[in-house]
Amino acid sequence: MAQREPGLTIGGQPASGRIDVHAHYVPADLQASLPAAPVFRGFVTWNPEAALEMMDRQGIGTAILSMVLPTAMFGADDAAGRVARSSNEAAAEAIRSHPGRFGGFACLPLPDVDAALAEIDYALGTLRLDGVVLLTNYDGVYLGDSSLDPVFADLNRRKAVVFLHPAPPASVENTSLGYMPALIEFVFDTTRAVTHLALSGTLERCPDLRLIIPHAGGTIPFLVDRISLLAARFVPGAQTRAPAGVETYLRRLFYELAISTTPHAVASVLQLADPQRLLYGSDWPALDEADVHHLIQVLDSNPLLQPADRAKIERQNALELFPRLKPDAPSTVTAPVRSDQDTKAP
Ligand SMILES: [Zn+2]
Repeated sequence: MAQREPGLTIGGQPASGRIDVHAHYVPADLQASLPAAPVFRGFVTWNPEAALEMMDRQGIGTAILSMVLPTAMFGADDAAGRVARSSNEAAAEAIRSHPGRFGGFACLPLPDVDAALAEIDYALGTLRLDGVVLLTNYDGVYLGDSSLDPVFADLNRRKAVVFLHPAPPASVENTSLGYMPALIEFVFDTTRAVTHLALSGTLERCPDLRLIIPHAGGTIPFLVDRISLLAARFVPGAQTRAPAGVETYLRRLFYELAISTTPHAVASVLQLADPQRLLYGSDWPALDEADVHHLIQVLDSNPLLQPADRAKIERQNALELFPRLKPDAPSTVTAPVRSDQDTKAP
């Protein structure tokens, strides 16, 4: 494993190292509810110290944490609000305890829109997390569905950074052929959600969202021309709802490269997005550290990327999305505080 110089900081902030926008966790109070399957092995044992050790070994200066497991894994039907609140407070605590080393995307109790709006206010306004994570669908309600319009309007008003993460499609047992959903269903569900965000008019109505698409866009970069052509020809109202054309909206998005650093994937996403739109993601601990390490080596040796492009992908582009991580950022925005210590409501 490559070694780096841990603790290299300026003003308490890491001055170097990758910024990982696809980094997962499950807070300690929820870990006992997880199934015993191997895919959850890394989640059951997650804690900030273990994450920092992995990050130091792999040259990751900051990890923007997201809790993306379906709330149904955590028991009761009404678990979503409890899971979201617990996750968001755990992320805020990790950020506060290790300044500059962690960020957080807020988990939302969707598809309950009112509860989600309240959690956005708490997580971004009070906890001051760095953005929100949205799953591709919630109980079969896909991003782009009109029922979610108030959530997108609020996030757009806040100019929020939104990390999209795949979830199993509602009918996964009919399509996955018995394989784990992450194998193929996740990239297809990403494609499904992003296409709907464009064709529903959500991206036209929300120009200030900073939306990060995972895994080099699912299959979006490869299929964008097909989707654009068929939508223009056959989808009623597509040109009214998405007047700039599908490709225009998709070029404005950010794409992170978790499990997608090979020339095959990067060649396709570079046809759609400028290097300024690409970000680094590890997908740890869903992915083992050995695989994270291998994919970093693949990124570093990718012949399609110049050293300046890699510097943007691994750190510089993310600093523009999360300016509090810049070494010269005011210290007042680097340490989120909990609600019981901050009475100034947004
Ligand atoms: Zn992931």
